[in-house]
Amino acid sequence: MNIHEYQAKAILKTFGVPVSRGVAVMNASEAEAAAKELGGPLWVVKSQIHAGGRGKGKFKEAAAGEKGGVRLAKSIDEVKTFVSQMLGNTLVTIQTGPAGKQVNRIYIEDGSDIEKEFYLSALVDRATSRVSFVVSTEGGMDIEEVAHSTPEKIITFSIDPATGIMPHHGRTVAKALGLSGELAKQAGSLVAKLYKAFVDTDMAMLEINPLIITKQGELKCLDAKVSFDSNALYRHPDIFALRDETEEDAKEIEASKHDLAYIALDGTIGCMVNGAGLAMATMDIIKLYGEFPANFLDVGGGATKEKVTAAFKIITADPNVKGILVNIFGGIMKCDVIAEGVLAAVKEVGLQVPLVVRLEGTNVELGKKIISGSGLNVISADDLDDAAQKIVKAVRGAK
Ligand code: GDP
Ligand code: MG
Repeated sequence: MNIHEYQAKAILKTFGVPVSRGVAVMNASEAEAAAKELGGPLWVVKSQIHAGGRGKGKFKEAAAGEKGGVRLAKSIDEVKTFVSQMLGNTLVTIQTGPAGKQVNRIYIEDGSDIEKEFYLSALVDRATSRVSFVVSTEGGMDIEEVAHSTPEKIITFSIDPATGIMPHHGRTVAKALGLSGELAKQAGSLVAKLYKAFVDTDMAMLEINPLIITKQGELKCLDAKVSFDSNALYRHPDIFALRDETEEDAKEIEASKHDLAYIALDGTIGCMVNGAGLAMATMDIIKLYGEFPANFLDVGGGATKEKVTAAFKIITADPNVKGILVNIFGGIMKCDVIAEGVLAAVKEVGLQVPLVVRLEGTNVELGKKIISGSGLNVISADDLDDAAQKIVKAVRGAK
């Protein structure tokens, strides 16, 4: 689960991490009070969306100007102007995709005088099963680009969970960033606090870009992008309460209500599969035959009629879907039960696009008979290959 920058900074602050003072606002009238409270003389007006690259992003609406989603204001009037230009408008950044994201919240911060910008992030490294830190002197820019063109400028190290953060980790960061004396001490303390915040709140990723040295000689986190391990959220109801559903795909929210593992994608073929591995294989084979999946969907082991119906509704709610491929292995579930479920769902939802069903496993013959005898426009397939070819052909025919 992702959260907004201002929420991430509030959490980090409780761990003693240095961040700027700030106030989150939802409308223009709150902005003036917030700006007065912060006092100036420099304010940063920051669009809150679950995507990075806001500073270099552009608004779709002409009224918002061509300026980015993070702007420096030198007066309270300017703060008000920027807030009204940003609120309700659509910000497009390299991370939002061309559709962009509507800005509904703004974070107003006390502006810092920047001496230097660095990059620091922490993430769960699956290869080492540890939390790894990534640091670089090249802050404030696209880290993927830095990794590509000057990989030597990126330093990574991982933390042994048995011993936790050690003083040498702080020294590694200080060395990587070229810090000495008081600043090196601050770096050591910062890394320890960030690690504690990461582990205590079950973060999956923490990205500080930029981490800065202020002109006053202090290390500070100027930006914060945080995501949490969704499987651990039950331990953190306070964090779960920060979820902003307006930032999430409506279909994914609906799917989570029905306990369906669904991820929206860009293609044209809706997929309904049981088992994550089979779902991945189904997506792969669709691509092999030249089309793209519209989603990942694992209906799980106990695919009831209700679940299958919910899945159908979610898949068909996607206007890009030009065909649906149902690929279910009847192991614990029997194929005839699944076939009945699929047909019931089709009858209830109504189907405007071609549907290919491939069943395998227990009672497969009976399942196929139910499908073919239904009188509905359902194409039956024998195996994965056959199913993928049939749905690709059907989708292309419909184009
Ligand atoms: P992002 O573009 O979404 O990554 O948003 P950031 O929070 O990283 O802000 C973008 C850029 O705005 C930063 O890299 C800084 O250069 C600049 N910026 C943000 N906060 C301040 C501030 O307090 N003072 C100054 N001078 N610049 C800032
Ligand atoms: Mg940033």
